[in-house]
Amino acid sequence: MHDGGSREIGWFLRGGIEADCVLTVELHAHSARSYDGRDPVEMLLEQAAAVGLDAIAVTDHDAFDASQRAVELAPEFDLIGIPGMEVTSAAGHVLALGIDRKIPKGLPFSETLDAIHEAGGIAVVPHPFQKSRSGVAPNISRAALASADAIEVYNSRLLTGRANRKARAFAEKHGLPQTAGSDAHIAEMVGQAITAVDANSHTAAGIVDAIRAGKTTVEGHRTPWHISFRQAAGGAKRRVKNRLASLF
Ligand SMILES: [Zn+2]
Ligand SMILES: [Zn+2]
Repeated sequence: MHDGGSREIGWFLRGGIEADCVLTVELHAHSARSYDGRDPVEMLLEQAAAVGLDAIAVTDHDAFDASQRAVELAPEFDLIGIPGMEVTSAAGHVLALGIDRKIPKGLPFSETLDAIHEAGGIAVVPHPFQKSRSGVAPNISRAALASADAIEVYNSRLLTGRANRKARAFAEKHGLPQTAGSDAHIAEMVGQAITAVDANSHTAAGIVDAIRAGKTTVEGHRTPWHISFRQAAGGAKRRVKNRLASLF
């Protein structure tokens, strides 16, 4: 263990030197299984690998099967797959990470958290202060929001940054673990927002445990990532298309 997690990530971003204990993770990405997603999980995995991530959670809206498939396929891409989904609770969106079953939609916020915990997972609240995108904050008490396991304090699809700043301030005030998520709905967006996780084991369970313990650093909009993913995106897409073509 080192105490310089962010320093190691800096090295990683600048020179591609992989850190021993800090994993770079995409925790919020949608596949074509989401009503508003476009790309198959293979393309999300290919992009995650191309930008040098260690792990990814595919988190479709109220669907779990594509995420399970991503977990199965992830080792082929040298990735750790984290089983997850974005649950539409009665109050709004809740990310469920590390779950072993599908979480039903439409439950009250607290029951959604209970269901996620019963499924062995953690509840991370994405874009809590973005009402137009089903953020939960307008519909629940601050105490209820603080009962989440973690808050997504950086969502790369929020344009103004104001809602992200509010989320970060809330997490800091309540001492809650912080995560980032690209909220990618197309493969090219995967890796736009990264959570660096200081995990004890390089497994989905190790990552989930470390998030629960708050051993995270949020890495959003870092220029080197943008450059690297733009360069990699075209090639990654072609490779996936070739791979898909070879399957049929
Ligand atoms: Zn959402
Ligand atoms: Zn989402």
